[in-house]
Amino acid sequence: MVFKQLFDDATWTYTYLIADSVSKEALLIDPVNTHIDAYIVLIEAQGLTLKYSLETHVHADHITASGLLRKRLGAQTGVSGLCGAETADLQLKGDDVLTLGAETIKVIATPGHTGGSISFLWRDKVFTGDSLLIDGCGRTDFQAGDTATLYKSITERLFTLADETVVYPGHDYNGRWISSIGQEKLTNPRLAGKSLAEFTEIMDNLNLPMPKLIDQAVPANRYCGLDEDERQDAVARRASSATIGVSASDWVTEAKQQITEVTVETAKELIGTNDVVVVDVREESEHAAGTIENAILLPRGVLEFQIGNVDALADKSAPVLVYCRSGGRSALATSTMQQLGYENVVSLAGGYQAWAAANDTKGVTNGTCG
Ligand code: FE
Repeated sequence: MVFKQLFDDATWTYTYLIADSVSKEALLIDPVNTHIDAYIVLIEAQGLTLKYSLETHVHADHITASGLLRKRLGAQTGVSGLCGAETADLQLKGDDVLTLGAETIKVIATPGHTGGSISFLWRDKVFTGDSLLIDGCGRTDFQAGDTATLYKSITERLFTLADETVVYPGHDYNGRWISSIGQEKLTNPRLAGKSLAEFTEIMDNLNLPMPKLIDQAVPANRYCGLDEDERQDAVARRASSATIGVSASDWVTEAKQQITEVTVETAKELIGTNDVVVVDVREESEHAAGTIENAILLPRGVLEFQIGNVDALADKSAPVLVYCRSGGRSALATSTMQQLGYENVVSLAGGYQAWAAANDTKGVTNGTCG
């Protein structure tokens, strides 16, 4: 086997390379975009094939190299299906197993730092991302973080691994490289012998500043670190992948069971009679097909992150109509908005395609063509 722990000193981030020395298949965990060339040199020098580029979560402090590694080396990108990173090839969930030749890497769901945080278990090593750090843990005050959920993930999942399991964290800010489950159970000041109430008291009083890169990193990482121009390829590729984990269509089917879809006819009635807020969750590059008049443009990939800045959506009881190209992404977005507390949000069945077909027109493009 090949194993390397790499370090980004700009963001104190650890990246891990694991490879099977027989099949030469390799994976990276939490690669950083600024090190892409170094990763490629390392992979090529060892004669490896990068099979997977994985994330422990959607990072707020650095931009991932995963999208670029997919583009340059053909690796499959993988992130939790709960992260809203729909262009990732693998939408991972707890208990999924990835293989590199004879090596197996198991996914452990460890939400709490973010809603979609996962850890990876390989041999006697666990890669905990920001769920469990050396003498600490990830903060829980953004990206659907939750203190009680993190406590449960650590105490009921990570701390039930063998004491000898070596802990490889997502960061360390004090120059330490590894720990062990036994050591963290014994000495982690936030968790060792601490009740949920005590843990909550500590987490509620961290008073940390927001990460410097959060405005750029979270939206970019939802697209595996790719910029706007590179995303369309990723969307097309994503549609034909997912050999492990849950496929995008499974998430859409599940979301549709939890939301209300309306027909074009009902949508028109809503727009005509109600103060409905119309939200377009497509990418900017799709708007040339036409838009519904007065729609607010809020791409699905950045919805949770930017919704707080949209004044028209400040009232969570106001009626909202969400649409995308064909009704899939808007179902996911509607489900997400419901989870965020929106009480009266519906999705347009069939999306803009159905709207345009019903109107037998390309529709109103930015309010100027119709
Ligand atoms: Fe993080």
